[in-house]
Amino acid sequence: MIRKITIAIDGYSSTGKSTVAKQLADYLDYIYVDTGAMYRAVTYFAMQNGFISTTHFDKEGLIASLDEISIGFEKAQPFETADVLLNGINIESEIRTLEVSSFVSPIATVPEVRRKLVYQQQILGKLKGVAMDGRDIGTVVFPDAELKIFMNASATQRAQRRYEELLKRGDKVLYQEVYDNVVERDRIDTTREDSPLIMAEDAIEIDNSEMNLEDQFHIILQLAKDRIAGRI
Ligand code: C5P
Repeated sequence: MIRKITIAIDGYSSTGKSTVAKQLADYLDYIYVDTGAMYRAVTYFAMQNGFISTTHFDKEGLIASLDEISIGFEKAQPFETADVLLNGINIESEIRTLEVSSFVSPIATVPEVRRKLVYQQQILGKLKGVAMDGRDIGTVVFPDAELKIFMNASATQRAQRRYEELLKRGDKVLYQEVYDNVVERDRIDTTREDSPLIMAEDAIEIDNSEMNLEDQFHIILQLAKDRIAGRI
């Protein structure tokens, strides 16, 4: 039987982590888990229930309601990437807005939120054969992952990519606000006390500012194949 490994893909916002994690999962027939979608789902819940807005953040209220939150994934079509479900309702489209992006990093600083989601992520990846992307996968969720990638790219490149994605969805956004959001999320994610975004000591850093998706996929796939074969 072919050995299954755990692939942890961490890095800054909009570095294309989910794109490559999805490609790897498809190719290797692994489970793909987008942990950012889970933090976005909690954020959407907090917005819907009045725990967060531009003027306030009722952290205690959110913490007291965490047991009411159930996050799942479902495939809309066979062979497609799974959509995120909040209490059984598909909110995949709702969580990708700039508004959710503007509240998600403060929500992700809350240790009680992190504990709940990390626990679920560890269960999802328990049997290995998983490609998981996020900010703390190689450091906290799976510190023993066989392959850890840390992705980076210039802030302008990342903002441009995210901006184009939002335009494609039909969202009316300005490049500058997308850029500001990417930089602000990085700031909060790298400076929070609980599980800040840092590169694991044994991670391999990939800067894809000048790399196309195809090349990036093949480089990381080769690293995965080496680990699966036990060459490294
Ligand atoms: O990956 P994505 O950009 O959708 O993540 C949204 C936000 O969720 C991040 O900016 C970060 O604040 C939070 N996050 C996190 N830990 C993870 C995944 C995401 O704190 N493992």
